[in-house]
Amino acid sequence: MDLNKSHKAYFTKRLIGWHHNENDRDLPWKQEKDPYKIWLSEIILQQTRAQQGLPYYLNFTKAYPNIKKLAAANDEEVFRIWQGLGYYNRCKNMLATARYITNELKGKFPNTYEEILTLKGVGPYTAAAISSFAFGLPHAVVDGNAYRVLSRYFGIETPIDSNEGKQLFQSLANELLYKDDSAGYNQAIMDIGATVCTPKNPICTTCPLIDRCVAFKQNLIDILPVKTKKLVVRTRYFNYIFFQHNEKIWIHKRTGKDIWQNLHEPFLIETIIKTDVATLIKTDEWSHLKTKAKPILIDSSTQKLTHRIIDTNFFSIDIKEPNINLPGDGNWVKKQDLKKLAFPKTIVSFLEKNFYF
Ligand code: SF4
Repeated sequence: MDLNKSHKAYFTKRLIGWHHNENDRDLPWKQEKDPYKIWLSEIILQQTRAQQGLPYYLNFTKAYPNIKKLAAANDEEVFRIWQGLGYYNRCKNMLATARYITNELKGKFPNTYEEILTLKGVGPYTAAAISSFAFGLPHAVVDGNAYRVLSRYFGIETPIDSNEGKQLFQSLANELLYKDDSAGYNQAIMDIGATVCTPKNPICTTCPLIDRCVAFKQNLIDILPVKTKKLVVRTRYFNYIFFQHNEKIWIHKRTGKDIWQNLHEPFLIETIIKTDVATLIKTDEWSHLKTKAKPILIDSSTQKLTHRIIDTNFFSIDIKEPNINLPGDGNWVKKQDLKKLAFPKTIVSFLEKNFYF
């Protein structure tokens, strides 16, 4: 690890030089000064790659060009635009914050780091990004890109997910920040991490930091940054049953603290292993429905989330009488109205493939 003064000064100088002369990463929110649009982009980009978030950013700014419009929007419509982006709590917090700023702060976006940090869904990284990009305040961002670039260039082996690591990287980032242009510096470290010092196969030959990069010199690129906790990915088995009656389908909204909050789904039975029709109709949830009709398996899919794999079977069943013992929180929705509701990506793909949309 090399944290001496000249090593730090070289880092900031080379990074800023690269940003002004070579960084050609073009994204619509980069020149933006409107705090509302910067906040919107940062919320969308949490847990999401820029290329994936880009169409969502464009759709949101088109539908809601200012915070008042977003605050006044119908929840269902906002969730429909968010559909497919995942981590739906972000959408819920985004709406709550838009309404808080519009109603409690008279539409004026907070302009200090401390106030921005109090907003729902905003942590230290997002607060630093908004306060530097929108207001030029001297706060350094430490996102996944910054962790990677800093740990490699300085050769830091302290785990980035330990308390010690978090403090070390934050204080190093604060020290390196180019205070005359904090927005440019923050943009530069995120861009170089996204385009040059990438997680796999970084393009060291074009990197402005190569001459003094510890990881490059000591062949540590593959082991840096270090993480203590390995991600445990568990598979969940979802069995969706499309109860159909008179061209209508039984649909309800997901509530509670589980994934896909506020999105809609057909009747769900979750099982601990992959299940066929014979096993499905022996479950307690199925017996509770008190129906003799049998579902038919029509499709399967697998969706990978960060911590989970969702393995889904889709069943269909036509029923003559709609008054079977389905839960009280659902409704019979006409097939042509399904498009008005927000669904998880895995269900949208099924509906599109099977001509419901
Ligand atoms: S030289 Fe390679 S490993 Fe070092 S900072 Fe640049 S891209 Fe990353």
